[in-house]
Amino acid sequence: MTLSSDGQTAAAADIDVIVIGAGFGGLTATYRMRERGLDVLSFERGLDVGGTWYWNRYPGARTDSEGSFYRLNLFDDIVEPFSFKEKFPAQPEVLAYLGRVADELDLRKHYRFGVSVDAVVYDESTGRWQVRTDDGQDYTAKYVVSAVGIQSEPLVPDLPGQENFGGRIYHTAKWPADPVDLDGCRIAVIGTGSSGIQIIPQAADVASKLYVLQRTPTYSVPMVNKELTEEEQRELIESLPEIRKAVRDHPFSMPYSFSGRSALDVTDEERDAIYGEGWAKGGFRFMIESFDDIGTTKEANDTVSEWLRAKIHSIVEDPITAAKLTPNYPYTVKRPPSGVEFFESFNKDHVELIALRESPLVSFSEKGLVLEDRELEVDVVILATGFDFVTGSLYKLNVQGRDGLPLSERWADGLSNYLSVTLHGFPNFFVLGGPLYPGGNWPTVAEEVSTYIANVIAEGEKRSAQVIETKAEVEEAWVAHVNELASQSLMAQYGKDANAYGLGANIEGKLQSVFFYLGGAQVLFDQFDHEAASGYPGFEMS
Ligand code: NAP
Repeated sequence: MTLSSDGQTAAAADIDVIVIGAGFGGLTATYRMRERGLDVLSFERGLDVGGTWYWNRYPGARTDSEGSFYRLNLFDDIVEPFSFKEKFPAQPEVLAYLGRVADELDLRKHYRFGVSVDAVVYDESTGRWQVRTDDGQDYTAKYVVSAVGIQSEPLVPDLPGQENFGGRIYHTAKWPADPVDLDGCRIAVIGTGSSGIQIIPQAADVASKLYVLQRTPTYSVPMVNKELTEEEQRELIESLPEIRKAVRDHPFSMPYSFSGRSALDVTDEERDAIYGEGWAKGGFRFMIESFDDIGTTKEANDTVSEWLRAKIHSIVEDPITAAKLTPNYPYTVKRPPSGVEFFESFNKDHVELIALRESPLVSFSEKGLVLEDRELEVDVVILATGFDFVTGSLYKLNVQGRDGLPLSERWADGLSNYLSVTLHGFPNFFVLGGPLYPGGNWPTVAEEVSTYIANVIAEGEKRSAQVIETKAEVEEAWVAHVNELASQSLMAQYGKDANAYGLGANIEGKLQSVFFYLGGAQVLFDQFDHEAASGYPGFEMS
């Protein structure tokens, strides 16, 4: 049976490329594959495009990267650039943006929505991947591109008694599409990461009582969002080419300049003033534009961590609550979130902080949640408990490479791949958002990686190769470089106590290893260019 290029006709079929996911990564990969003349069939477990933005519909959800660069250059090149109405677009706007990308590039026709991929197995005898979906269908494809997302497998606490709870439970990453009435409810929010700090102020606005259950305190800086006037939107569109250039050459793929300063080369007064200016600018500008060494040197980091701790105490009126909210690990060891009035929420009389390290959570009860020393009676429990970062969603695909080796076994003792995308022993298999990807602005990383994957495949096709496979020695050399950078990082040294997901430390029993490439996104992109310019020396194409 053959498959038409619209992906809608056949059940079992032999396809050029299967793409998994319909977020920023999956959409750009699907587009790039089609552009290279390949038949592409894409799967998405959601009922429409959007990825993260399809699932995370919780009140307050918005990107903490500015819309001026939280966007696809690819799309801006083809159709009239999209104008976000706010500096930091909220979830409905980002979802609408991705919907428009899908419409304008006619991408939906490639997708089967509401379908999850259950198994991806390499068949050595045919050189094809066998892909099984949860509706019982089997497919074979020459290439598979996983774009399942880095933060897409929700983490649900293993708390007994959930079935006895008489109220409602929501996870931020599985928020219902229909309106959720929280007005006047007694609410418990578990988790104070990027999702928690966004939903907590919203819940505080409507709840009759709000308990915030915090395991590890967070450093949150203000986002400093605003609505953009029509003139500002026009100016922003005009400056897109300039922004794009700055983003391509930046370690975090953001158009913010480094200061060229060390936090240790200024007086205390100058340093305070600079942190104050950074706080007023908000978002990632605080981290990037203040001093160059706060993320790399402990002594420099101490200055910013201390400044932020003092800031929390200056905002939160009750000193005991302020002390509980104050982190003791170095800033940036966990991904720094930015939000709107997070710390201010704790000045409201009906908002109560519970420090779980002092008062552990034991179970659900019929009426709410049981702590070691008391019971909290609530109507609604909101789990803002995050994700099984990167490998959670990848392992659910049950990928097996040569000799039936599962991906989970390949990485059981350590993460390894080439440029975050390919692995020796897993021919014609590409990961968009694999371990050791550079943190940073996701749409930029996603489209650079998509383009790279499409270029590698196009080169293989040009050489009539049946197999495209990363050379073992090239992968080893790259990973040695990645590991050397990781071993020197503050995350490796201090991430464990902070439960940093970037170290696998938020999940008991997960591999403890730095999951990021810390050399900077632009170094990875340069390496992609180097591969292309030198005839893809990292690969066997046979
Ligand atoms: P997260 O940063 O991993 O935070 C999860 C929170 O839940 C942490 O406070 C964690 O405590 C807590 N938690 C987890 N399991 C728990 C348990 N069993 N009991 C008690 N507390 C528990 O997850 P997230 O907030 O969803 O954010 C994940 C990432 O998604 C972000 O870092 C960001 O990359 C992305 N994101 C971005 C935005 C944005 O752009 N604005 C918004 C949301 C998410 P510990 O710290 O102790 O583990």
